[in-house]
Amino acid sequence: MYEMLSEQDRVIWEEELAQFVPQRIFDAHVHLLDRRHLSQVEGAFLDWKDTDWNALQGCARQLFPGRELHCLVLGTPSPGIDVESHNRWIAQQIQLDSQSRMNRLVTPTCKTVEIERDFAEWRFNGLKPYRLFSVTGDPHQCRIADFLTHSQLEFADQHRLWITMHLSRYHGCADELNLSDLEEYTTKRYPNVRWILAHCARSFSYWPIRQAIPILRQMPNLWYDVSAVTDLRPLITLFQEEDIKRIFYGSDLVDSTFFRGKYVTLGRAWCGLNADQSSLRFPHCDGRPILAIYEQLLAMKHASEIVGLSSSDIEDIFWKNAESAFGVKFGQEH
Ligand SMILES: [Zn+2]
Repeated sequence: MYEMLSEQDRVIWEEELAQFVPQRIFDAHVHLLDRRHLSQVEGAFLDWKDTDWNALQGCARQLFPGRELHCLVLGTPSPGIDVESHNRWIAQQIQLDSQSRMNRLVTPTCKTVEIERDFAEWRFNGLKPYRLFSVTGDPHQCRIADFLTHSQLEFADQHRLWITMHLSRYHGCADELNLSDLEEYTTKRYPNVRWILAHCARSFSYWPIRQAIPILRQMPNLWYDVSAVTDLRPLITLFQEEDIKRIFYGSDLVDSTFFRGKYVTLGRAWCGLNADQSSLRFPHCDGRPILAIYEQLLAMKHASEIVGLSSSDIEDIFWKNAESAFGVKFGQEH
């Protein structure tokens, strides 16, 4: 169902990535979607493809030949999505793999009784809130509690849930309000919630994580996923300055990283660049861009080399940290 790899993608896998990516992968940031749950509202993810568990595994077989893949599946935060049907469908999909987990999509309109009912029925791992559901109507400059209510946070605290948090606000993790909210929640108000700050704490450029890491690394119950970060520098900072045990591999597959291009940085600014949809010219080289997920893996590989991570650190990031964090039981075959 997904387009096949290009010849240049294959060269990068075979010559660069095959010796870096471990045999087992636990991806802490993937999305599944049944497009029937989308609705035709402004901002809905109408260009996203249908991705069920089998399609995801089919995609992974192309991308990571011979690897075993398990996932923390996150609800797809498309505005107007049928939250209940979507969550229930994901819960059914991941029953196909006892070593995978899910974070339930949650919006400010989800009542605690509904979350509690789902938790009792299929015991999700945690919650997936998203800034696009902010009650302020401003997804760019909202605070955590604008899109994840205090009663939802109380429920998460009571049940020691994981929360995958894509920080809002222009400076991401370097934003003073985000830092003070995280400080208050992790140390005082919700000490049992376990946070996964998505996209290197939403640091696609070098700057936010360099600013924030001295503060973030002091906070308890904080982890990171490295999904969709294709710039080398935030990965170097994270690998160098944080406890490796607090870092999870994540990909943001399928739609956010299965395209030729990357998330480019220009100074402290960043944006997605899809090479097939832009008019880039390559007059001085063999101009064949590769998939963004391969760009991310290349950046992870180079950051690991620069920081001097051991092969056991790399196994930790790719699956062992998830094994202990999410209570996943693996066999001894690897
Ligand atoms: Zn995502």
